[in-house]
Amino acid sequence: MIHLIYTGGTVGMVRRADGALEPAGIEGLLTHVPELRTLAACDYYTLEPPRDSVDIGPPDWLRLARYIGRRYLNYDGFVILHGTDTMVYTAAALAFLLEGLRKPVILTGAQLPIGDIRSDARNNLITAVELAACGHPQTREVAIYFHDRLMRGTRTVKTSISAFDAFASPDCPPLAQVGTDITFPPVPPLPPGPVTLTVHRRLNSNVALVKLFPGLTPELLQHLVGAPVQGVVLETFGSGNIPATPGLVEVLATAIRERDLPVVAITQQLQGRVRLEHYAAGRRLLEAGVVSGGDMTSSAALVKLMYLLGQDMSPQRRRELLAANLRGELSEEPA
Ligand code: ASP
Repeated sequence: MIHLIYTGGTVGMVRRADGALEPAGIEGLLTHVPELRTLAACDYYTLEPPRDSVDIGPPDWLRLARYIGRRYLNYDGFVILHGTDTMVYTAAALAFLLEGLRKPVILTGAQLPIGDIRSDARNNLITAVELAACGHPQTREVAIYFHDRLMRGTRTVKTSISAFDAFASPDCPPLAQVGTDITFPPVPPLPPGPVTLTVHRRLNSNVALVKLFPGLTPELLQHLVGAPVQGVVLETFGSGNIPATPGLVEVLATAIRERDLPVVAITQQLQGRVRLEHYAAGRRLLEAGVVSGGDMTSSAALVKLMYLLGQDMSPQRRRELLAANLRGELSEEPA
């Protein structure tokens, strides 16, 4: 038995006579896929009100996690219909909030509404349900299904606003590849976790995502990382570089020293990992107390910071966990 959760997004919109798109109810949406029932028995629920995903954030992630937690034992898997714009954030949040998850939680959506003749919604929904019901071990985590791939939720990025192939997982192979057959290529296993599900109930969204750019001054950086910011994801150049502009690293070093501010460095590039020890320009960050975020995506790093800031722990422990692989969100370096 699969539980479908509808949150809104283009997938469920219908075109009015004047051409404008408006959200439809899940019942209307399901009339376009009557064959879904031949794949798996499905129950459904709407996270009211159905929304454009730009209006889905931390309170909704907590609601979704609690909702899934309460029904966890009653279903084989969950499929969440969601707008594409913030799908990767919701996926990462559920991955961190649902610790010890051993069932599929698959998010999907569409580039065109389900009622459109060329819509990708039917394929995405049908295959997401098939994957959630198939029982393969590589589906038992929070994942995104789109176009022809099931991707680890903490690794996925949205790469196109118009292509049907709208998402990618640049640093982690797909969990499943869908063609005439469904194949499950080898993927790095998730780190071991508890055998029973723990639903975490707190997130702290006083975080900032700071992208370095040529010309960034220490004065501006000071504003970007100052109070009330409690944690920073720093998008650095290449493998973890920061310009030598006098005073720039000192702003971070002071905030880390005086406010215990967790700062995690990731790369601005789509693929690859930061190696802060690699260049002198990155070493300065290490010496300032910046944590290496490896190959985390910016959305996964940001949500991970919200999650860790929401838990009671020492600043030192928080820094250790930021750099650690908790839900498959970063590749561990070969020893
Ligand atoms: N703006 C829409 C949303 O994210 C786009 C989509 O669904 O693809 O809800």
